[in-house]
Amino acid sequence: MKEVASGEKIESRKEMQKLLRHVEDQLYDGVVVMDIDRLGRGENKDWALIKDTFLNSETVIITPNKIYDLEIDNDDVSFDFMSIFARIEYKTIKRRMKQGKEAGAKKSMWTNGKPPFPYYYDKNTRSVLVDETKRPIYRAIVEKYLNGTNLGHIAIWLTDNKIPTPYNIEPDGKNKGSSNITVQRLLASEIHLGYITYGKTRSKRGQVELVPEEERIKVMGAHEKLKTPEEHEVIMERLLKNRMLNPNSRRNIFPLSGLLYCEKCGSRMRFRVGENKKQGQYWSALCYHQYKDGSKCEQHGKVMDADFFNALYDRIIHVDPDILREIELHGSRYSDTQTIIEVKEQELKKQKRALDKLHGSYEEDMITKQVFLERKAVRTRQIQKLEEELKDLRKVVVDEGNYPTVEQIYGRIGEFRELWDAAVTSEEKNRALKKLVERIVYDREGNRVELAVCYR
Ligand SMILES: [Zn+2]
Repeated sequence: MKEVASGEKIESRKEMQKLLRHVEDQLYDGVVVMDIDRLGRGENKDWALIKDTFLNSETVIITPNKIYDLEIDNDDVSFDFMSIFARIEYKTIKRRMKQGKEAGAKKSMWTNGKPPFPYYYDKNTRSVLVDETKRPIYRAIVEKYLNGTNLGHIAIWLTDNKIPTPYNIEPDGKNKGSSNITVQRLLASEIHLGYITYGKTRSKRGQVELVPEEERIKVMGAHEKLKTPEEHEVIMERLLKNRMLNPNSRRNIFPLSGLLYCEKCGSRMRFRVGENKKQGQYWSALCYHQYKDGSKCEQHGKVMDADFFNALYDRIIHVDPDILREIELHGSRYSDTQTIIEVKEQELKKQKRALDKLHGSYEEDMITKQVFLERKAVRTRQIQKLEEELKDLRKVVVDEGNYPTVEQIYGRIGEFRELWDAAVTSEEKNRALKKLVERIVYDREGNRVELAVCYR
């Protein structure tokens, strides 16, 4: 007999129940089992039932080592012993399994995906380990910051030394260098203090949202700690003092964040904070793109000084005449398409009416079945063709409809000028630009910088 369910009680073991019924009915002289312990599991009550059934039906139990006849005192005692062993063993296994689970939970298994720099997840030991080649770099970052080096300089140091980081990876899988945010995130991380945080996100009405910090579960993990709580405290104090954790500056928004693209390679450009005695803090825009063969994009960066922004402003408010012409052309194409749709819709209605009439003619016996079928096939084909054409045309109209008109562009430029004049922070400037501009394409040849503006 084959036991299918592996439940521990006889009540839940159907094959065992059937076997015991057969034994009770004295169908067998003996039952062969590989081991006594295969008969029962943990319950004393079950063992009593098994023993009674075999004893009362005078059925023997045959194992590879011994035949148990329970009517014989010796065998009876042996059987009891074997059953006790079976029960003890079963309980031990069960206890070990439970201990294993608890130990797993106490060890706080890593379940959070890719751990941050300089850790890695080891699949074999299922634990988070420190990459020894990266350990000194991480410590250098911590020590540099504790010794007063600012985030920007650490980011430059990391980028210049081509140190890849787990954050800041673009969707194309390329690492575009470190930014202040990368460094800040790394420094503020509590994982390096030894903690693992569970439940950072939850889904609410189908939407994924961030769980407030105080509601998350934070436990001490089993991975190696790489900074002391004292170091962490000093780091956090300094980050706060630098207002890097202030919600307004937290995302480190530059006026051109998310808007500037490189003409040479098409990648989004990045911004870096630098500092020198002459200018103090300054931003520069750079392209970090690296091609598949390892060569770097040849675009030259630019310091985003007042001159740069003045030139950009002029470029934005004076719409290129070519763009205006293009928009006008688009507008007329749009109305042409709409006229075509109307014509096609009329044609479709006509075809459908004709098909109705055809059915009428056939019902009134005015035409033969043969003629009806032939004409119906022609009409149906035409209707299908028109419906397909209309579907395509409507798609074109939706796309074209998203295109702004010249009036809309001028309206938005007006709004932009107001917003830009009132804007003080980088974030406000960024918002003003994003109202009007889809992207700005940057190109530099020598000292000449070309900016092409794509409007929303
Ligand atoms: Zn580039």
